[in-house]
Amino acid sequence: MRTRTPIIAGNWKLNNTINDGIELVKAIHFGLGNCPPDSEIIVAPPFTAISKVADFLQDSFIKVAAQNIFWEEAGAFTGEISGQMLKDAGADYVIIGHSERRQYFHETDETVNKKVKAAIRNELIPIVCVGETLSQRESHQVQEIITHQTLEGLKDLTQAEVSALVIAYEPVWAIGTGKTATTLQAEEVHIMIRGLIAMQFGQDAADKIRIIYGGSVKASNSKELLAVPDIDGALIGGASLKASEFIEIIKNSI
Ligand code: PEP
Repeated sequence: MRTRTPIIAGNWKLNNTINDGIELVKAIHFGLGNCPPDSEIIVAPPFTAISKVADFLQDSFIKVAAQNIFWEEAGAFTGEISGQMLKDAGADYVIIGHSERRQYFHETDETVNKKVKAAIRNELIPIVCVGETLSQRESHQVQEIITHQTLEGLKDLTQAEVSALVIAYEPVWAIGTGKTATTLQAEEVHIMIRGLIAMQFGQDAADKIRIIYGGSVKASNSKELLAVPDIDGALIGGASLKASEFIEIIKNSI
């Protein structure tokens, strides 16, 4: 029996206008028969659609995440968005350190850590992304990379703070490529991350933290991945843009 509630989160990335987003969540609701599933369901619209999508979902079981956050609360930081602003717009979660942000916007474990602390300060639940590139996997650096990203990303947090957050293991070579990690490859890393959390923050935090998998998850491969006891759900990019695929993944998570 699962002791942790699974999370199915859709990362819309740079897709969907306000109307597109509302139509998509409407279709997800309708497809699930307006009946709350046992899993936690999250959608992460672009910043521009958060407020309207969150308003539309006010009494819904679908929750809203932002795709990024800045670590300062206010001031001369043109183009940035604070945790307080995200909360004000209706977000409850925030994706932090996605590999696309690390790759194109030079985010580091240090900035990830600052963002995680800003999210917690503003009562947003961080979804912290970690994952190795293909060349790192091929040169047997998975353990070293994941250890560094996890421990630096969560540096200085308390046991209670770590228990409540979410880690997304997303091998970079599997994101948007159609290549999914095998259940064995994913399980191996999830177990390793849970071990790291136990070592650094205690067994209770390790038992409570949700570690979800991301990387080309779709309806057809979700059942097998989500059946693994150490995989507590999925972060889904491409397949979260189609209501029917997303619904099927949700159904496979229960
Ligand atoms: C992602 O964006 O986090 C992701 C996993 O993308 P995709 O499902 O498209 O691989």
